[in-house]
Amino acid sequence: MSLPLVVQKYGGTSVGSVERIQEVARRVEECARTHRVVAVVSAMAGETDRLLKLARALAPDPTPRESDVVVASGEQVTSALLSIALHARGVAAQSFLGHQIRIHTDSAHSRARIRSIDSERLFTALDSGRVAVVAGFQGVDEHESITTLGRGGSDTTAVALAAATKADACEIYTDVDGVYTTDPRIVPHAHKLERISYDEMLELASLGAKVLQIRSVEFAKRYSVPLHVRSSFNGHPGTWVVPEESNMEEVTVAGVAYDRDQAKITLTAVPDRPGLAAKIFSPIAARGIVVDMIIQNVGADGKTDMTFTVPRLEVDNALRIVREVAREVGAGDARSEGDIAKVSVVGLGMRSHAGVAAQIFETLAREGINIQMISTSEIKVSVVIDAKYTELAVRVLHDAFLGKGEEAV
Ligand code: ADP
Ligand code: ASP
Ligand code: MG
Repeated sequence: MSLPLVVQKYGGTSVGSVERIQEVARRVEECARTHRVVAVVSAMAGETDRLLKLARALAPDPTPRESDVVVASGEQVTSALLSIALHARGVAAQSFLGHQIRIHTDSAHSRARIRSIDSERLFTALDSGRVAVVAGFQGVDEHESITTLGRGGSDTTAVALAAATKADACEIYTDVDGVYTTDPRIVPHAHKLERISYDEMLELASLGAKVLQIRSVEFAKRYSVPLHVRSSFNGHPGTWVVPEESNMEEVTVAGVAYDRDQAKITLTAVPDRPGLAAKIFSPIAARGIVVDMIIQNVGADGKTDMTFTVPRLEVDNALRIVREVAREVGAGDARSEGDIAKVSVVGLGMRSHAGVAAQIFETLAREGINIQMISTSEIKVSVVIDAKYTELAVRVLHDAFLGKGEEAV
C-alpha cells in the first residue's frame, strides 16, 4: 500500500526568506517520512507586487499575456529554491511549473480558471519517492501561454491538485494560526475557529477575508477536499474547513469580513422603464467587470437613481461604459466614489436566528457610522460604509456578535 498523500501549500510569508525556506524544507522533510508530499509554493512575500510594479512602470495597462509571464516568475523561483533546500537536506525532490504538469486554464490572463490537470507527472515523481514541489498561481492555456489564477491563486493550485490527486488532505500553511472570527490584524482578540463550513468560508472569502482565495474553497467544496488552514510558524492545530455539520447553526455568527477594494458608481435620473437595467449592466458584464451590490431607488417623475459597486481597479472602465449608456438613454450624470468599504457578518445560524440585521444596524448607529448600502443573503449581511470607519465597524461588529477572546497573533 502506498503512503497517504498530502498537499501542503506555503504562502508568501512562509517562504519569504532563505531561513523561512529552510524551515519549510524541514517541515516537508518531516511530513515526507510518513506521506507522499506535494508542496505548492507562493512567491516570496512582496514579490508579486514588485513584479507587477515593474510591468506597470513600462505601461499603465501592461499586455495581459506578458504581465502573466512576469508575475508567474515569482513562484518559479520559490519552487526551485525549496527543491534545492530539500536536496541540501538529502531529500529527493523535483520542482514543477504549471505547464509542466499541464495545469490547463482558460485564457483569462491574471484571473484564469483551471480546466484540467494531468497529474501523471506528479505521480511519477511521487511513486519514485520524490517530493513534488509545484509553483502555485500559474497554469497554461490552449495557446501554450502562461496564465495566472488571480491574487491568492496558490491556494487554488493546492486545492485543485489535492482534488486531482485525490489527496488525503490539503494543508494551507500561512502566517496566522488558522481562520479567525475576523482578520486578527484588525481585531487582535479575534479567536481561531476550530472548524468552519465550506459555505461560511466561501462567504468570508468572497467578502474579503484574504486567508483563502475563494476559488480554492469552491474547489474544496465541490470535490470534498478536507482543508486544514494552519501556521508555518508553529505546530498549533489550525482550522478545518469541512462540510456543514448538524450543530453548526447553533452559532449565529461565524465571522466578520471587510473589503476595501470596491468602488461605488451612482447614475442619476435614469428613465424608469423596462430594459434599462439590462442596457446598463450588459455592457459592463461584457467587459468582464463583476458588479456586486445594486440599489435602485423608487422612481419619481418617471426617473430613478441607480447605485452599484464594482472592483476598485475596474471603476474607471465601468464609469466610461455607464456614461456612454447614460448619453444613449437620456439619463443624468454618473459619478464614482472610491473611499468606501464593505463590511459583512457571516454565519449559518442566521438562517434560524432573526434580528441579526437589526443588531448590525444598531451597533453601527451607536458609533455614528452611516450605512450607504445593504445586501443580505441567507447566511450573510453586508453593509457599505465610508472607508475611514472600516476598522471601527469591524471591531464593534465583532465584539457585538463574537465577544472578546485571547490574543491571536
Ligand atoms: P499567504 O501569503 O500565506 O497566502 P495571506 O496574506 O494571503 O497569506 O492570508 C493570510 C492573511 O489573511 C492573514 O495574515 C490575515 O491578516 C488575513 N486575514 C483576513 N481575514 C482573516 C481571517 N478571518 N482569519 C485569518 N486571517 C485573516
Ligand atoms: N503570489 C501570488 C499573490 O501574491 C499568489 C499567491 O501568493 O497565492 O497573489
Ligand atoms: Mg494568500
